Amino acid sequence: MSFVRTVLSDIAPDQLGVCYAHEHIIIDPSYMTEKFPDFRLDSTELAATELAQYKANGGGAMIDSMPTGGRNAAKLAEVSRQTGVHIVCPTGLHLKKYYPEGHWGGQLSVEELAEIFIREIKEGIDANDLSGPVLKRLSQRAGLIKIASGLDGIDEHERRIFAAAALAHRQTGCPILTHTEQGTAALEQTQLLSEFGVDLRHVTLSHTDRKPDMEYHREILRSGVRVEYDSAFRWKEGNPTLDLVLALSLEFPSQILLGMDAARNSYWKSYGGKPGLSYLLTDFREQLLRAGLSEESWRQIMIINPADTFSFADNSS
Ligand SMILES: [Zn+2]
Repeated sequence: MSFVRTVLSDIAPDQLGVCYAHEHIIIDPSYMTEKFPDFRLDSTELAATELAQYKANGGGAMIDSMPTGGRNAAKLAEVSRQTGVHIVCPTGLHLKKYYPEGHWGGQLSVEELAEIFIREIKEGIDANDLSGPVLKRLSQRAGLIKIASGLDGIDEHERRIFAAAALAHRQTGCPILTHTEQGTAALEQTQLLSEFGVDLRHVTLSHTDRKPDMEYHREILRSGVRVEYDSAFRWKEGNPTLDLVLALSLEFPSQILLGMDAARNSYWKSYGGKPGLSYLLTDFREQLLRAGLSEESWRQIMIINPADTFSFADNSS
């Protein structure tokens, strides 16, 4: 039986409900927030306030996409407990620029990296966010592997991490969520993961709508991979994200996911910003339905696709 691994427990995929596929609920003080102070999202209380609102608007689950480097699984569990929103927490590594010089992500072998990911999936996430030297496993386990590639291609460093993620996926069935930089290198990511034997039905490429070229998207989707669009609230003129959803949800109904990737506190109402994390369920949903999206497609994108995507693949043991 397949399952989704949340921070509180493994659940049946159909228990997820309406799910945002790429969020940042907690980002603790870290190298990343020192470099980008607006990324700091460290309040359990403010997160719970925002997610309670999300729940009131029909939200059921969120996929957190902060791998090591600011992650706090214990806080995510607390927010989930307080709000009843299911939360998935990843293992994995983000872009090199988010870690200090000499970070272990650039030093370890593919097998060693895979071992770290696998143990966080099977045994528990490190309470110290893998900042070393002591490891203390929390009861929360990782339900996702997050990896990333930079602008226009996958370099050697990133390739090693992709290989490690693929190994961990093949051993555990754990789904994979990737970061694409401005939507680029999506085809390279798909091809590489496919070569490494990953089941593309459990792979989601994030942010691809930042490159809103319809033909590019069709080419990506023909591989069977899923895509996550999260720029609906970012566009200044028109809404290419809306156009992509309208067209492609008809052609590739089971492969489109939505999220906000609201990784800045200035996007959160509870931190005093806007538009707030309920935006997709209120404003964007209304815009989509008015533009002709069916309720059935909405349900497919928000409920059915996340359940299929973020459940563990059958090779899990
Ligand atoms: Zn993100």
